Amino acid sequence: MYKSRKAQIQELFDGSPSFRLKQIDRASFDTNIAVWSEVSTLPLDMRSKLEEHVPWMSVKKHSLYQSKNEDTFKAVLETADKKYFETVLMANSKGQWTICVSSQIGCAMRCNFCATGTMGLKRSMGADEIIDQYRFWKGFLLEHPDFPQRISNVVFMGMGEPLANYENVKEAIHTWLDYTDIGPTKIVVSTVGILPQLKKLLSDPDWPPVRIAISLHSADQKKREEIVPTTVPEFIKRLAQWSHEYQSTLGNRMHHLTFEYTLIDGVNDTEELAHELGQYVKKTAVTKVNVIPLNPVSGKKYTRSGKERVERFKEILRGYDIDVTQRKTMGDDINAACGQLALKSE
Ligand code: SAH
Repeated sequence: MYKSRKAQIQELFDGSPSFRLKQIDRASFDTNIAVWSEVSTLPLDMRSKLEEHVPWMSVKKHSLYQSKNEDTFKAVLETADKKYFETVLMANSKGQWTICVSSQIGCAMRCNFCATGTMGLKRSMGADEIIDQYRFWKGFLLEHPDFPQRISNVVFMGMGEPLANYENVKEAIHTWLDYTDIGPTKIVVSTVGILPQLKKLLSDPDWPPVRIAISLHSADQKKREEIVPTTVPEFIKRLAQWSHEYQSTLGNRMHHLTFEYTLIDGVNDTEELAHELGQYVKKTAVTKVNVIPLNPVSGKKYTRSGKERVERFKEILRGYDIDVTQRKTMGDDINAACGQLALKSE
């Protein structure tokens, strides 16, 4: 049975004062330390126990890919129970790095245009497997001293549906907030929109103040059901209601909601659907739409909307006074772009 690194540590030191566990967490993020024996804040017997029973990292590198222009790296990582998943490091506009993390091995959501859905769900990831994607990339940067060293942003846009792994995602976020220099508004949880979980976080006192992006892909209920088969009845209407509840409880200038909208040629990129989206957004508390030109996934019939169609779509939305951004495609030459993570190497 799979047991997380954290659970192993807790079991090993059951009854030890909590500051000891914090020292272990802190040491785990100290880039000067690479093995338990170097954790000088801990007594020797604890160090040797750790050496014997707990791996320094919950994941290890299986393979690494680098985009031609060296702005995107993708790693396939192996878990203790020999499962494989992908994680991505991308250069961002501030000259630092954004990591795109996975929260599940595979995904149960089956979104029509996404590669990960074709794998099905193997299992949810433990908090430490999520946390260690940051530690893995920090180690990678350390091996490349000529690169900028700071990871400033994290997006939950890798494999899996983060809100279907709520507690572990939450624990991972809190750990990064406690032990790294990443601020809460620099972390984005991207979700297909699981309404019970979206409701739950509104009244969860421990939900961290991160940003939320909802993968909408259509404001038309029927069309949404066609593209995202897990869409529940009246989703579009209920999501609008939820957005107002979010706005009145957690929302503020720093915590606006974003809709993500993957543009698929001839499917959801028509002028009519752009107007439907524009009108819908005005009825929600969402102010921002991020359009994502589709990244091709082998074996899928969908293609990316042409430049002109993308421009027209954005122009119509701007006519509704909506803040529209377009996601830059990165790493598509190594299948590391959004929706392309599906473990071709296995
Ligand atoms: N389960 C989460 C995270 C998934 S990936 C979610 O649904 O939001 C992050 C984003 O990439 C989502 O908006 C997703 O819809 C989008 N995406 C998936 N496949 C894509 C593809 N082939 N091209 C472009 N974007 C894609």
